[in-house]
This record gives sequence, structure tokens and C-alpha cells, in this order.
Amino acid sequence: MPDTALTTLSPLYDLHSHTTASDGLLTPEALVQRAVEMRVGVLAITDHDSIEGIVPAQRAIAALQLPLQLMTGVEISTLWENHEIHIVGLGVDITHPQLTSLLDEQRQRRTARAQMIAERLEKARIPGALAGAMALAEGGAITRGHFARFLIAQGKADNMVNVFKNYLARGKTGYVPPQWCTIKQAVDAIHHSGGRAVVAHPGRYGLSAKWLKRLLAEFATCGGDAMEVAQCQQPPNERAQLAQYAQDFQLLASQGSDFHMPCPWIELGRKLWLPKGVEAVWTRYPDLLIQGCAAQGKRGEQ
Ligand code: AMP
Ligand code: MN
Ligand code: MN
Ligand code: MN
Repeated sequence: MPDTALTTLSPLYDLHSHTTASDGLLTPEALVQRAVEMRVGVLAITDHDSIEGIVPAQRAIAALQLPLQLMTGVEISTLWENHEIHIVGLGVDITHPQLTSLLDEQRQRRTARAQMIAERLEKARIPGALAGAMALAEGGAITRGHFARFLIAQGKADNMVNVFKNYLARGKTGYVPPQWCTIKQAVDAIHHSGGRAVVAHPGRYGLSAKWLKRLLAEFATCGGDAMEVAQCQQPPNERAQLAQYAQDFQLLASQGSDFHMPCPWIELGRKLWLPKGVEAVWTRYPDLLIQGCAAQGKRGEQ
């Protein structure tokens, strides 16, 4: 079958995106409308340690009768061997108590860390960072992304790359070692709430091949289901390499833009396709799409 026929049959999946519920710049309502403009057929909203964007997005899709299917999602920060590893949960029941209590703990950790980041910046003669970052977060999960935007607004850096490099990356003035949950705790909460666990952007942790393989082995041992293989901005050979790892570690594959805001480089749905030889997580588990919406808890407690 020619590719053109395939693309008309199968919707475009983008299973990693952010809203104002964490460090995204678009509201859930604006994000789902943009997804439709970009011809995305299935979107997962995966805010940092938050599911608050899901219901407003579902309401907007219904009210505007948008041709878009929403998959519930979340991106949980974990700590493994001193590395911050992000685990995406897809198709979770957003009301499940094990998930919501884990996310509550994570939010408390975010608040505590934000206070410490602000204290460190204050000592470096940058006052007002907590109030500034909280104002930008507007009640959503507070992230380093909000501190980054505050610091840029203060004229401390001219772009996101430099503000992280100079202030917020490990070892810099505004860096505080995080206290996230373990990979196992994230995977368990995702599974108990009926979802599937996915290693987010495996190429973005700065791990050597040896350590990345260790991470994927650990994730598989914890019962993890899949790994992101395709993103819109990747070094030339990364997608093929990640597809090979997915097969080696018997993990399913996922894809997502990790869209945070309109910008020239990253766009919803852009360049998202999976190489041959991997199985998509949505193909193996087609009921991920109704899980967490109509069929809450159906597959829970397993
Ligand atoms: P946090 O979860 O609070 O540590 O914040 C992590 C978020 O900061 C990521 O999801 C990105 O949105 C953003 N971020 C981290 N590192 C960078 C970087 N080098 N450049 C731009 N954004 C970054
Ligand atoms: Mn982010
Ligand atoms: Mn991430
Ligand atoms: Mn993300």
C-alpha cells in the first residue's frame, strides 16, 4: 500500500504535549485547537506531574466538536541513579487515588524545590524569583521552565537554552537536587490507574549508550511498557537507534512532539512517524483511548 493511502487511513498521533497546567504556554483549549490545525488526530496531554489540563481539553473538544481524540496523560518526574528521568503515563484514569496521591506528593516536592531555587537565586542577588515563577505558573505545576521565563524577563539571559546553561542546569546557581519518586513508583501508579508507562525522550538525558541501556533494562524490569522513539527534533540517527533499543528491550514504541509553545522548531504532530520493526503502544493497546474517559478503572487494579 502506498504511504499516502496509509496516512489517510491512520490518524496522526502526538502523545506528548504540555499546557498551562504545567510549563506549556497554551491553555488546554488553545492546545486542542492547534492540534486540529496541525492535523493531529490523537493527542495526549502530558503535563509535568499534573492531570489538570485534561478535563478542560475534553470540554473544549466537545463544545467545539473538534475532530480530535484526546488520550489522558501525565509526565512524571522520577529519580534514577542521580538522573532525572521522565515517565509518561498514557490512558490513565485521572481520578484514580493511587495516581492522584502520587501527583499530590510530586506537587509538594515541586513547591519545596521552587522555594529552595528562589532562596539560592536570592543569595545570588536575584530577588523575587518565587513570586515571579509562581505568577507565571498561574496555579499550575511549578517547573524550572517558569524560573527560566522569569530570569529571561529579568534580562538575565536571552533564551531558554542559555538560561538553563547559566542558571538552572545541574551545578548552577539556581539548581536544587530534586527528590522525585522512583521509576517503579511511577510505573506502578500508572498501571494501577489503568494506563501504560512510557520512557519520555530517551535521547535527552545525556546518557552514554551503556547508561541508556541500563535505564531501559531497569524500566523493563519495573514492568514499563514503551519508550518514545520519535520526536520532532532529533539528531539524524537517533530514531533508528531508539527503535533498535525498543526491540532489544522488548518495549513498545511511542511518539510525541513534547510541544510547550509555538516556536519555529517544535510543532504538534511534526515529523512523527515510527521506523519499521517496532510496535506502537496504541496498536497493542487500542483501548488506551477510552481508558480514563468513558471506561475509568476498567483495567485498573491489575
Ligand atoms: P522541572 O521538571 O521543573 O525540572 O523542569 C523541567 C522542564 O524545564 C522541562 O520539561 C523543559 O520544559 C525545561 N527544560 C529543561 N532543560 C531545558 C533546557 N536545557 N532548555 C530548555 N528547556 C529546558
Ligand atoms: Mn517542560
Ligand atoms: Mn520531559
Ligand atoms: Mn514533556
